[in-house]
Amino acid sequence: MIDTALSIVAPHYCYNCQKTGSVLCDSCKYDIVDEAIEACIICNAPEPSGICVSCRTFYEKAWHIGSREGALLQLINDYKFERVRVAYKAAADLLDMYIPDLPADTVVVPIPTIAAHIRQRGYDHTALIAKAFARKRGLTYTPLLKRATTSHQRGASRSERFKQAAAAFSVGSAVESQPPYLLIDDVLTTGATLQYAAKTLHDAGAQHVWAAIIARQPIAKPIK
Ligand SMILES: [Zn+2]
Ligand SMILES: [Zn+2]
Repeated sequence: MIDTALSIVAPHYCYNCQKTGSVLCDSCKYDIVDEAIEACIICNAPEPSGICVSCRTFYEKAWHIGSREGALLQLINDYKFERVRVAYKAAADLLDMYIPDLPADTVVVPIPTIAAHIRQRGYDHTALIAKAFARKRGLTYTPLLKRATTSHQRGASRSERFKQAAAAFSVGSAVESQPPYLLIDDVLTTGATLQYAAKTLHDAGAQHVWAAIIARQPIAKPIK
């Protein structure tokens, strides 16, 4: 209801083709998903599972729609920093269009957002995407992970980020061994957050942890 009221005041334009109506029109969503390549989320090497053997992680499959550039960059930046709350719908649509069928017992888990950022934005951006995706697929949504510290990533060096992330998460309720847990985040930068979120679930007993990210920071093509 709030989304509709706001769009009357300021109509949304497609980030890709500028058409009026939504932040990403349906045909541009299809184009973005069509162009997505199956590559390792960390090193960009061609890899159908989304995570290659040499990048070894605590998650065994990963999906990402593309690099954080063009329409995806604008979508994520406006969603995170300009309070374009409605962008969560386009993000969830992209995941729904890109990710193959998942087992019916898959549990969708958002990477928890730092409380101060939720207060600034007025919404929990990863929770909204994860919830909308779970609803579309008829999967269970469970915000299992809690933030154990309030430390900030922005501006931190790569090794500082890994150190902060290692202490960042705990589980808020029971984790079962069998169902796959699908972690949802908007952006992947170093992979530290995702790695330790997956490790937390793994250490709590989850056998299968997967990850779905909207976009990752652009990186150079793998050196051949
Ligand atoms: Zn468009
Ligand atoms: Zn890799």
